[in-house]
Amino acid sequence: MSVAEVGGDEGIEPVRGDEGGSVLGPRNPAVEAQNPDMNVPPVTDSGTVPNLKMSYAQTHARILSGGWAREITVRELPVATEIAGVNMRLNPGGMRELHWHKEGEWAYMIAGSARITLLDAEGRMFVEDVSRGGLWFFPAGMPHSIQGLEDGCEFLLAFDSGSFSENETFLITDLFDHTPKDVLAKNFGVDESEFDALPTDIDHTRYMFAAEVPPPIGSDQALMAGGPPSTGFTFDMDGMTPAKVPGGTVRVVDRNNFPATGISAALLEIEPGAMREIHWHFNDEWQYYLSGRGRMTVFASSGKARTFDYRAGDVGYVPFAMSHYVENTGDETLRMLALFRSPTYRDVSVRQWMAMLPPEIVKQHLNLSDEMIAGLPKAKQSIVR
Ligand code: MN
Ligand code: MN
Repeated sequence: MSVAEVGGDEGIEPVRGDEGGSVLGPRNPAVEAQNPDMNVPPVTDSGTVPNLKMSYAQTHARILSGGWAREITVRELPVATEIAGVNMRLNPGGMRELHWHKEGEWAYMIAGSARITLLDAEGRMFVEDVSRGGLWFFPAGMPHSIQGLEDGCEFLLAFDSGSFSENETFLITDLFDHTPKDVLAKNFGVDESEFDALPTDIDHTRYMFAAEVPPPIGSDQALMAGGPPSTGFTFDMDGMTPAKVPGGTVRVVDRNNFPATGISAALLEIEPGAMREIHWHFNDEWQYYLSGRGRMTVFASSGKARTFDYRAGDVGYVPFAMSHYVENTGDETLRMLALFRSPTYRDVSVRQWMAMLPPEIVKQHLNLSDEMIAGLPKAKQSIVR
């Protein structure tokens, strides 16, 4: 019986064979059951490795008339210095206020659809509707908005700094509220009285607000008579043809197929029993679990390793160069996003490395058989079963 099967409402005792002992004190069985590999780690786990797991279920939900937002930043997950993530819901018509920020913004539409607008660095307007499985990238500094369409929407945002906060963006109402009225009048060439009706609820409460569902996109685009529209800030990630491998599929979106992006992404579908093979990257990896269950061991060198369990709605993190695998431990397909603060996706497969080396070098390190070494595939497969 695997560790994952002994959970349930009773929780998990920290007992492994003849070692450990039952819990006598207060306990939270539901949380224990979600973390079997923390409560009974594999014997290969060792040393002190920082926490690499956080769930949106444990974050503060900022609830407003237009929807809600919750974030996992370096404050919620201190190791995650390269990327911060925000999970956001917009009701039908719900508007994420016109704003900008110092970080690049990558997004993946989880459900529903939204209208996005952006003014690019050449002064051209970009307006597009993004539906489930689509993504966008807004380069740092470019002003933008997001609005839920008639079906509303929920999406994941990723920013290229762990210390980003969704609560500290530059908001259009905040700008107007903190500029002298006579300066506004001079700037726009109108009388000060024009600004008498500015919203007074602007102590960051606009941010996300209920609004009318926008008209069909054709009319919005027709309104933009100021010049040719901008292009290239969206990509249909689910719609791309995935690499199919035994045990799952892999979609990679990076500068090679989406030139505007500053964040590279892999969407992995791992079948029950299959596993993202042992590998590492050249940047930190920020993970978001879309469905299913999995476990990951992160090897941190010097005899240190730690295993974590994840499920839909959880966030995982892997610091630069630390090797890891992700094994599907559930009975449905594990879908996950892996994001990197680099425009180009790159990884190293330990299996490919072994396969490409002169066999005698591998043999003298690990005492493996000639047959096993000869049988290693030289092509990187990403997922194995
Ligand atoms: Mn933004
Ligand atoms: Mn990885």
